[in-house]
Amino acid sequence: MRYAILADIHGNLAAFEAVLRDIDDKGGVDELWCLGDVVGYGPDPAECIALLRRHTHICVAGNHDWAAIGKIDICDFNPHAAEACRWTGGRLAPGDIEYLEGLPLRLERGDFTIVHGSPREPIWEYVMSVHEAEANFGCYDTKHCLIGHSHVPAVFELSDNNCLIEELKPLLKLGERRLIVNCGSVGQPRDGDPRAAYAIYDAGEQVIYHSRVGYDVERVQQRMVSLGLPRFLAERLGHGW
Ligand code: ZN
Repeated sequence: MRYAILADIHGNLAAFEAVLRDIDDKGGVDELWCLGDVVGYGPDPAECIALLRRHTHICVAGNHDWAAIGKIDICDFNPHAAEACRWTGGRLAPGDIEYLEGLPLRLERGDFTIVHGSPREPIWEYVMSVHEAEANFGCYDTKHCLIGHSHVPAVFELSDNNCLIEELKPLLKLGERRLIVNCGSVGQPRDGDPRAAYAIYDAGEQVIYHSRVGYDVERVQQRMVSLGLPRFLAERLGHGW
């Protein structure tokens, strides 16, 4: 079985469509695993929910998913994120709200626990350092954990009670050691590469294939500005930050 790992789509339909085309080109998958933040920042939140729901998928809740429907407070959001969040809330139909409302905080599939932020704090915690990862290895029961939220691809590996951080390469072979893996963001990458990031997990081969996919960033930027979303959020897409 093969699974696509998609995180932080953030209402960026063009990036999401480009990733789905790339998945098809690579032979398709049996299920999409979505790590939350389907909406927020981008110009097409409802369309992204609809496209996700047309596929066989599972999805956990992200902070933007629940903030957009008022389920959690936006007081911790920066002003641009808060503005985009209020804008997003106004674009959602009752069915979209019901879908986001019902998303679980964590899911387990085979060897993987799936969360948005971290297994310790699924909605809010960023796992970006060895220290943060180390504290989280004790917070889930499966062998590995998939996370999003930081929008920065990375692999944290637990070895003899030591934790290491590694770059996520195009091919990650799963072995004996426990891993926490972040496959980056589809709709708003923040590692300096503006291309959409995602991965395919092949359970038979025990390999995670990480990919980057280009899309028409400029068109999305123009659309965001024309819809009245903060210009800063459009500009950052071009920098991959
Ligand atoms: Zn996000």
